[in-house]
Amino acid sequence: MHNDGLLVVLSGPSGSGKDTVLAELFKLDIGLVQSVSMTTRKPRDNEKDGVDYLFVDEDCFVSAIEEGKMLEYAKYGNNYYGTPKAPVDNWLNENKVVVLKIEVQGAGNIRKLYPDAVSIFLTPPNKQVLEERLRNRGSEDDEDVRRRLDIACSELERICEYDYVVVNDDLMDAVRDVKTIIFAEKLKVSRRNKILSEVNK
Ligand code: 5GP
Repeated sequence: MHNDGLLVVLSGPSGSGKDTVLAELFKLDIGLVQSVSMTTRKPRDNEKDGVDYLFVDEDCFVSAIEEGKMLEYAKYGNNYYGTPKAPVDNWLNENKVVVLKIEVQGAGNIRKLYPDAVSIFLTPPNKQVLEERLRNRGSEDDEDVRRRLDIACSELERICEYDYVVVNDDLMDAVRDVKTIIFAEKLKVSRRNKILSEVNK
């Protein structure tokens, strides 16, 4: 148990809008912190090292795994992605709400490590919308879009492994739903150690 901290896993196919939803949630200033993942993927034009990801080469990624510095990692397409362990442990010890924006294999590993983590799957309303969004954002070439759509199909089959599913059709509705889940989870008796000891003094 991590006192009253909360670990939130947000998954969803590439193009489901995880980044956009999280950007809106952060604007609400509700005390969330987000882990910066490590990846071997090349940065996109608008991405900054240390902000969007820690961009590293494969040797560096493998060393981080061998040194036990990764909480979880997975191969997605041709690249590795993973969550550095230390910041997450520190934030949970400080009772923060920590968000991990990760794909389904990593989410499964986090669930085993932290059974009290809350997992949310963000889904597009349907596969056509997903394809349109992926093609319109223009950050991947045709082959990569097709690879991401293939991965999306297998990810969508794993929704049942999650605690919650949120449909990202209208952005602000999706933001409201994720916020509602986080607020309700924070109020769970199992996470209210502090107030329970106060009222029973
Ligand atoms: P993208 O290349 O679009 O930035 O990310 C590809 C996929 O990797 C997305 O589903 C994203 O959520 C996931 N991802 C990003 N960081 C991590 C991580 O640290 N661990 C895992 N398992 N997946 C990640």
